[in-house]
Amino acid sequence: MAKETKKQVAVIGLGRFGGSVCKELYKTGYEVLAIDRNTEKINQYVDFSTHAIQMDTTDEEALSNAGIKNCSHVVVAIGNDIQSSILTTLILKELDIPNVWTKAQNQYHHKVLERIGADRIIHPEYDMGIRVAQNMVAEKIIDYIDLSDDYSIAELFATPIVNGKTLASLDLRRKYKINVLAIKRDNRLTVSPMPEDTIQTNDLLIIIGLKKDVKRFQEKGL
Ligand code: ADP
Repeated sequence: MAKETKKQVAVIGLGRFGGSVCKELYKTGYEVLAIDRNTEKINQYVDFSTHAIQMDTTDEEALSNAGIKNCSHVVVAIGNDIQSSILTTLILKELDIPNVWTKAQNQYHHKVLERIGADRIIHPEYDMGIRVAQNMVAEKIIDYIDLSDDYSIAELFATPIVNGKTLASLDLRRKYKINVLAIKRDNRLTVSPMPEDTIQTNDLLIIIGLKKDVKRFQEKGL
């Protein structure tokens, strides 16, 4: 059997945004290369990454020597230095990194990143603003049955956040301590779905769990 290798990812630029991406990926179990040109940042991230490397990522040779080519995903979270962000993204695409996600400062920066082949362009504050607004207005719980003081059954609409994901990959039992009793799509009901069953946007999920966990899933998982 092939030896299972851990997925390797890199985060370049350990400011507020890059730093939180790095910590979260590391916590989730990825092998994370944390890269910054500032030594202080590197010292801060030694315990929150697999390898913390001090370098200027506009130096192509240094990037190659750091083993960046083993990474399937690289997040470029360089903030104000737009020139460095663009050059780093360009080098990564020239090195054939399949998924380069870059943080953009403004629309001009966005346009250039698009041109040079960034696979995803992120505007953290703008994207988060939309997410907050959607969460505030979304009425995701369709029906709710109190089973006891603590437990409930709820019916919720699946949002694009879980679209295309299997129940196994969502890991809802562990993350939210809830169980999916059934999935309703169009008029077809799948009772006791299997881990490999996939969820689609607008599926109706019938779940059971502690009320506080159902609430947490609705707010954070959907
Ligand atoms: P944020 O707004 O997310 O806090 P910052 O602009 O403060 O972002 O942080 C960006 C980080 O990127 C800084 O820690 C900076 O040292 C790092 N950085 C900037 N240019 C380069 C570069 N060429 N190579 C490596 N790291 C860089």
